[in-house]
Amino acid sequence: MSTTYDVINPATEKIVTTIEHYDLAATDATIAKAAKAFESWRNVAPADRAAHLRRFAAVVASHKEELAALEIANSGHTRGNALWEVDNVVNVLTYYSAAPERLFGKQIPVAGGVDITFKEPLGVVGVIVPWNFPMPIAGWGFAPALAAGNTVVLKPAEYTPLTAIKLGEYALEAGLPDGVFNVLPGKGSIVGNRFVTHPAVRKVVFTGSTEVGKAIMAGCADQVKRVTLELGGKSSNIIFADADIAKAAASAPGSVFDNAGQDCCARTRILVERSAFDTFMEHFEVAVKKFRVEDPSLASADMGPLISRKQFDAVQTFLDEPIAFTGSAPSGPGYWMAPTVLMPKNTQARSWREEVFGPVVSVMAFDDEAQGIAMANDSEYGLSGSIWTRDVGRALRVSRAIETGNLSVNSNSSVRYSTPFGGFKQSGLGRELGPDALDSFTEVKNVFISND
Ligand code: NAD
Repeated sequence: MSTTYDVINPATEKIVTTIEHYDLAATDATIAKAAKAFESWRNVAPADRAAHLRRFAAVVASHKEELAALEIANSGHTRGNALWEVDNVVNVLTYYSAAPERLFGKQIPVAGGVDITFKEPLGVVGVIVPWNFPMPIAGWGFAPALAAGNTVVLKPAEYTPLTAIKLGEYALEAGLPDGVFNVLPGKGSIVGNRFVTHPAVRKVVFTGSTEVGKAIMAGCADQVKRVTLELGGKSSNIIFADADIAKAAASAPGSVFDNAGQDCCARTRILVERSAFDTFMEHFEVAVKKFRVEDPSLASADMGPLISRKQFDAVQTFLDEPIAFTGSAPSGPGYWMAPTVLMPKNTQARSWREEVFGPVVSVMAFDDEAQGIAMANDSEYGLSGSIWTRDVGRALRVSRAIETGNLSVNSNSSVRYSTPFGGFKQSGLGRELGPDALDSFTEVKNVFISND
């Protein structure tokens, strides 16, 4: 572990702490440890593995305030979000603690004997996490992986390693055997890339940019390594004139400015049916100006700073279209930016086409259902989205027509731990969460037993 890394508080620009980064040798040694631990973890009795996960959940829950405080300091997340994020890890661990005793195979009718299937664990699973939701995204990978009998090596993002390091400690405190769940802070090009190239790592779960995701998918092809990808997004919030416009407008800021817009599900395109456009904008302006951007440790904060100076600078490059209005933000140290509403001149504007990953939203009018659908689908991404209408038939038609993995009608919620999450098109490959996620952490084995 040769290099050190200064972790910065994005609200103050002060150093929170300095950590050691894993180098290649330390990464290889940890993967070897995880491979060794797999031999016994896979054979732990289902009820005992379930009990391990429930104890892990309980230890995480008992450190809720500590973990939330760490995420506020490391990532600038609001207190409300950080507390939700700890709960999400607890809930995901608890949900998948039911899995070891329910990894059912099938008995298939065949001639001359009995045919049964087993769901076998893969081995060591590498989880690579981005900086925008360090705790939940880690949990969506490690909880089902462990439940299915795999061991895990997890690399947090460079900017945001602190809660992941703690989760690794809590796993040991909860009694998980050494080597079953390993956290390796370090660089993507060293630790993350080693998960791709090391033959003992049998699957990579990657969440991050589409660009890096494509390189990981290409790298995994070399060993036909299993891969789940959760990548970028450019999601639409489609508001029809028959909707409760006041409600749609009041909740729109949260759908895009939550986590300072650093959310793969951020609805960065708002599409409003033309006859309701002016009414929507009036209500939306009031809501944006009420959105509180302030010290994220305050219970009243709706939004904190961006993660880094680099991210702040990248987001500014999108401000080249007419600005309709903005909210407000603190001045002084920290990567603060006011929520900003753009009205791009046409659908070729960068802010309309590219993922922003900052508190910037673009609004456009559409004339009818067909045009609204076409505008929403005019993207390489397909992760999330919202539809606001009181017409049930339209809600169904538009839901089926939009090419994304996660839609909400008359709501902007994207994620529930018990339902599948993932993207169409270049937003990803495979699904996390919900009952089906276990399929991507197991191989189906077919066994025929002869009557003879
Ligand atoms: P990123 O792609 O730069 O990095 C993600 C992770 O990959 C980090 O841990 C990084 O160290 C690692 N990495 C970088 N290069 C690597 C390499 N060559 N080999 C292996 N690992 C490597 O993304 P980011 O900036 O941390 O996160 C933002 C992106 O994540 C956005 O595009 C966002 O939409 C996406 N995201 C998607 C989802 C989803 O569920 N679809 C959720 C959150 C974030």
